[in-house]
Amino acid sequence: MTPDPAAPLRALSRLVDAQGQAVASPTDAAATGSGDAGLPGAGGPSIAGAAPPGALPPEAPYEDEFDVADGSRIGFVHSTETTSGVNGPGLRYTVFLSGCGLRCLYCHNPDTQGMRLGERTSARRVIAEAGRYLAFTRRHGGLTVTGGEPLLQAGFVEELFVGVHAEYGLHTTLDTSANNQHRASDRLLAHTDLVLLDIKAGNPALYERVSGGGRLSDVLDLGARLLEHEVAVWVRFVLVPGLTDAPDHVAQVADLAAELGPIVQRVEVLPYHRLGVQKYAALGRPYPLEGTPTPTNDQVEQALATFRDRGLVALA
Ligand code: SF4
Repeated sequence: MTPDPAAPLRALSRLVDAQGQAVASPTDAAATGSGDAGLPGAGGPSIAGAAPPGALPPEAPYEDEFDVADGSRIGFVHSTETTSGVNGPGLRYTVFLSGCGLRCLYCHNPDTQGMRLGERTSARRVIAEAGRYLAFTRRHGGLTVTGGEPLLQAGFVEELFVGVHAEYGLHTTLDTSANNQHRASDRLLAHTDLVLLDIKAGNPALYERVSGGGRLSDVLDLGARLLEHEVAVWVRFVLVPGLTDAPDHVAQVADLAAELGPIVQRVEVLPYHRLGVQKYAALGRPYPLEGTPTPTNDQVEQALATFRDRGLVALA
């Protein structure tokens, strides 16, 4: 019988899901006096997750709806831009979808969190727009869909990826937190060349706190599916002083990344930055991480070394 490479991740997902539920119980959290879900190194105060003050309520998934003019799926797009060297390899036509089911403390795009703040458009229109940039994107680049959380509009993303594969032979990248990963169909994964997989934390309690209520088990479940489908992954991890930078915690994240094995082409350690501060001010919302410093070069180098110690290619 062929060994299942995703079996360890699935088992881990079941474990952290059970532990996360246990921690979510107020009685249990009070009894332990800590947010530790039982995984090694998850110390700190009780850290049940909740959206930061002033945040919009998390968005629910968008059910498929079709454009009356062209018959393709409707989606909500916050903005588009061409990028180089970020959001995937080469030159990218990058589509930021609006709407997110999480409320991360360090989110620097709070303006993308509300789905209906985006422009209602059709998949065909976005595919046609992506076609205008082929001179830049076809040979060394492609299409990236990010957000917000793209999987809230999984049917729309699927239609985009199938379309640009079939019509342009374009490389496709999905930037996701794995929230609502169950909405990603096998067909979508088959048309995804690369996933930028955001691992926000390495234990369920801290994950819930950092993401404003998300579940680490979603990340592990999507990871298991990506292993099965052999989809290449770039892991992303945001290093936030005082929140995610404890050495034991970085080691937990690195262990999870290593579980994904050969599909992980690189790990990007993203130093926390404060570029979103002005957006919160413009939205009239308090900035959730006020007073948090950016990490020093030494802190970033330490984190990189933790990933490299596990044989992973890591860069900042
Ligand atoms: S998943 Fe991304 S867009 Fe959503 S709240 Fe977190 S950082 Fe912001």
